[in-house]
Amino acid sequence: MFGGFDTFRKRITLLSGGLLLSLSFVLITSFYQLTSTRLSNASGESLVNLSQSISNMLSANLMEREREVLLLSTRYSLYESQDLSALQYAIDQIKSSYKDYAWIGFANVEGAVLASSNGVLKGADVSQRPWFIHGRSGPFVGDVHKALLLESLLPKPKDGVPIRFVDFAAPVIGQNGELKGVVATHADWAWVREVLLSSLTDVSKRKGIDIFIIDNEHSVLYPDNHFPNNIEVPKVLPKDGQFKSLLWQDDEKYLTSLVSVRSPESTNLGWQIVVRQPLSIAMSAVKEVHKLLLFFGVFATLLCMLLAYKFASTLSRPLERLALTAKSIQQGNRKATFQDDSQLSEVLSLSRSLQEMMSSLLEREQSLMQMNVTLETKVRTRTAELEASNRSLEAIARQDPLTHSYNRLALDEALLDEYRLAQESNHPLAVIMVDADHFKRVNDNYGHTVGDIVLQKMAKLLAVQVGVKGMVARFGGEEFTVLLPNTSALEAQSVADTLREELEKEEMIDGLYVTASFGVAMYEIGDCHYEQVLKRADAALYKAKEQGRNRVVVSD
Ligand code: GH3
Ligand code: MG
Ligand code: MG
Repeated sequence: MFGGFDTFRKRITLLSGGLLLSLSFVLITSFYQLTSTRLSNASGESLVNLSQSISNMLSANLMEREREVLLLSTRYSLYESQDLSALQYAIDQIKSSYKDYAWIGFANVEGAVLASSNGVLKGADVSQRPWFIHGRSGPFVGDVHKALLLESLLPKPKDGVPIRFVDFAAPVIGQNGELKGVVATHADWAWVREVLLSSLTDVSKRKGIDIFIIDNEHSVLYPDNHFPNNIEVPKVLPKDGQFKSLLWQDDEKYLTSLVSVRSPESTNLGWQIVVRQPLSIAMSAVKEVHKLLLFFGVFATLLCMLLAYKFASTLSRPLERLALTAKSIQQGNRKATFQDDSQLSEVLSLSRSLQEMMSSLLEREQSLMQMNVTLETKVRTRTAELEASNRSLEAIARQDPLTHSYNRLALDEALLDEYRLAQESNHPLAVIMVDADHFKRVNDNYGHTVGDIVLQKMAKLLAVQVGVKGMVARFGGEEFTVLLPNTSALEAQSVADTLREELEKEEMIDGLYVTASFGVAMYEIGDCHYEQVLKRADAALYKAKEQGRNRVVVSD
């Protein structure tokens, strides 16, 4: 389909394919950009939402814990009795109402623990503990810290993570306004983990989402320090409630969101929830969409190319048919016709013009052929006429005008032919030279005209007598030569004798008789020129004249 781009339909197909491919490339790229931004925004916003919900849960929990310790601190009646049994009861109640309270206790103004959950640390001195120091002056929430005094007194956690607490403390003020001591609760840090684990659904885990809690200094509070690789958060983080694509310490890009945890009113903890998701996972859906788009783009391009090919076919088919017809006509098919059924007006008009052109050309060809035939006939007739006139010219050229016998030219040609034949075939060839005797006297006595008549009669007699046996030619003047092919010397002599006798008897005009002398000679083997035999005949003729004329002499 694509070997060489020399046809109309291939070019249209390629052009439309190329255009469509470029168009789909542009569309796919812009769509990819759009979907990337949209998807990245959507992923980022979902991370912010997750951070926000975690933050809300944490902050609600912190506030509840703070409110609880405040409530406990303001229940004055609990601190009235000497043995603090009501307080002990209340503490135990609160402890059992919330499982993540690791310890609840009351220390007097000196820092001695007077009542506590399960009696733990009872009597211990907590005067140096931050919660006690800060709790004397107002409600306090202490940042997360490791258990110190309680470490050994509390049951060991199963997962080996060190026990960490968030302290909540509030001063106990007597009715007279004096400070009676500080109540405090130590909430196990484990509740944070529970909050986070409850937020982190299976789907989030599959999506590679990690959650961090960091403090003011960007130190990671959660996950705990033993978390593999001791992760550090990037120095520059997104603004509160926003997200950003950031490069983390493992050199991977993460879509990162940040939301601050609303702190209890008393203390600004400055916690922030950081949630991250590998950018590659966040954008994986875009890649899927991109692949899908690419597939559809290529598929649509191929489909359109096929349609364009079909469409181009409908355009080019009539042209191809015209080309085929033209070729067939060129190859000699005079019956081929250009089809007249195209839907395209241009093609229809071209087809009709071609048909008309071909018809007029065919007519011309016909008339040319006829002219040719006429011309050929004419040429043949003319040639025949020319040949005839040539022949008669040739005959005239070889004829003696006076006697109508052969002339010297004809004699020379015939003699040469016969001489060669005699040489090749060894057949005898005889020549008789004839010379009218005392012809001068005829002229003198009767005049030239009579002399001419005598010569004519003499020629005729010789020709009649020789007949088909040989050829008679006028040698010149009153001399004739008789050529006798395939004739022996004897036969030649006999012919000469007959001629002499017949001439002698012929009356030329009233009472005028002439004689002639004859010299006979034969072609001889060893003759090197055809004239040699003539010379010998002439010599014999000379002898005949010498011996008294009107006789035949045969050359020796
Ligand atoms: P001989 O017997 O020795 O041959 O004597 P001759 O007179 O025949 O010979 P010569 O050679 O002396 O004379 C030949 C004559 O023939 C001379 C010439 O006028 C004549 N003659 C030659 N050609 C023609 C011709 O065409 N017409 C006429 N009327 N006479 C001719
Ligand atoms: Mg003579
Ligand atoms: Mg003579």
